[in-house]
Amino acid sequence: MGHKGNDILYKKDDVFTVKIEDIGNDGEGIGKAEGYTLFVKDAVIGDVVKCKIMKAKKNYAYAKLEEIVVPSEARVEPLCRYHRQCGGCQIQAMDYRAQLDYKQRKVKNDLVRIGGFTEEAIERVLEPIVGMENAYHYRNKAQFPVGTDKEGNLIAGFYAGRTHDIIANTDCALGAEENREIMEGILAHMRKHHIPAYDEKTGSGLVRHILIRKGFASGELMVCLVINYNGGNKKKGKEFFPFQRELLDRLAEIKGMTSVSVCINADRTNVIMGEKVYRIWGKDKICDTIHRRNTEDFSLMDQGIVFHISPLSFYQVNPVQTEKLYSLALEYAGLTGKETVWDLYCGIGTISLFLAGEAKKVYGVETVAQAVRDARENALYNGIENAEFFIGKAEEVLPEKYEKEGIRADVVVVDPPRKGCDGACLETMLKMQPERIVYVSCDPATLARDLRVLCDGGYELKRARAVDQFGGTVHTECVVEIQRKHI
Ligand code: SAH
Repeated sequence: MGHKGNDILYKKDDVFTVKIEDIGNDGEGIGKAEGYTLFVKDAVIGDVVKCKIMKAKKNYAYAKLEEIVVPSEARVEPLCRYHRQCGGCQIQAMDYRAQLDYKQRKVKNDLVRIGGFTEEAIERVLEPIVGMENAYHYRNKAQFPVGTDKEGNLIAGFYAGRTHDIIANTDCALGAEENREIMEGILAHMRKHHIPAYDEKTGSGLVRHILIRKGFASGELMVCLVINYNGGNKKKGKEFFPFQRELLDRLAEIKGMTSVSVCINADRTNVIMGEKVYRIWGKDKICDTIHRRNTEDFSLMDQGIVFHISPLSFYQVNPVQTEKLYSLALEYAGLTGKETVWDLYCGIGTISLFLAGEAKKVYGVETVAQAVRDARENALYNGIENAEFFIGKAEEVLPEKYEKEGIRADVVVVDPPRKGCDGACLETMLKMQPERIVYVSCDPATLARDLRVLCDGGYELKRARAVDQFGGTVHTECVVEIQRKHI
């Protein structure tokens, strides 16, 4: 129960009318009622809303949006009618310009509050966020869970926020336009032949997830059905599910269809993909191209690098914005052709291969062995000979190569997962004293934390820019250049 002063008590089911003044980390609106803070999911900054307390704490409460009394100027009609239930988008009801302002503010605030940089220092280096031209249909990958609704009807769609209840929706507003036709085709086939969806509770049933990927540059489509299959080793010509040929014929008619596979996952787990993938139609992989873009107007600058992507590969989900992000990273790296560059957390080598054309040598480090195999293969396909890849943790490989083999670095690029860089990794980077470090980050909070360590260790901020890869959601990417201080 919350309280104000001595006597006013706030409790569950209390209703308030508040003006939403701020946005929380999960995209929720934040309002204040007599000094008491209310977190209101689905409220947009600038709204005046009536909301009901769901959970009251001492100084704050979580409240449910009951009614929009005065809509915010930043409020728009979202394309997706499920945006409130679905866990994917948090701020689709906010005008895209307001989304970008929010992300720019968040990056700045995190750098100041968590990184301990002054506002002036950040304002000096932080350039305006790079937005998308079209904030819908930008994702090249979708993973739809398949299941049944309360009446037992077969459905596929998305998990409702923080649950495993499936909302039937084969037409996500962020995904490729083709997803719908593919999904409807597979569901119709399953209904016709009574092929059951996997049931998490009992571990029975067959189809768990449907993964769809599209190469935006090539137009190639990939479908991978994740199935709960216990049929032992695949015998030649054996079908993984009933009337497989009929389904494949149906999918083959869809324009761009290039690869259909199954992925076996018979484990009782939340992990979507299994380890074994069998191609059942077309090619093993699809292609996509990443081009360099001019960082002034983001026009195309080259023929690009071709990436071959398999169902299990990691690949950036927003290819258009990825080109802008990498082009900025390349510019920040300031390469002249003479440099030795390390690309830590390199995935399938996307950034590494992008840098290789302008560097003497690029070393990539990545923990996932398959990703490193993809990176090597992609280097080969593109005729890139000065990139070398190591399997292992950045915080182990880097010290080893530096301390034991004396490999140095002129420039280090890092692109870690949300938790940021390991302390040992930052420490080795400081010892190696590269001229420049380019930090690509998907979480401004851990970015700020790590930049503090690096700047305390002798580096200074040069340039920083956010690039929105995830319209409709609270997430954003950033790229920062720091330079060694010469004393
Ligand atoms: N730069 C790549 C991938 C970035 S995602 C791209 O843009 O496509 C972050 C990557 O870091 C993932 O591929 C993940 O497998 C890898 N990773 C996670 N922890 C790591 C660690 N400790 N050392 C090296 N790589 C790691």
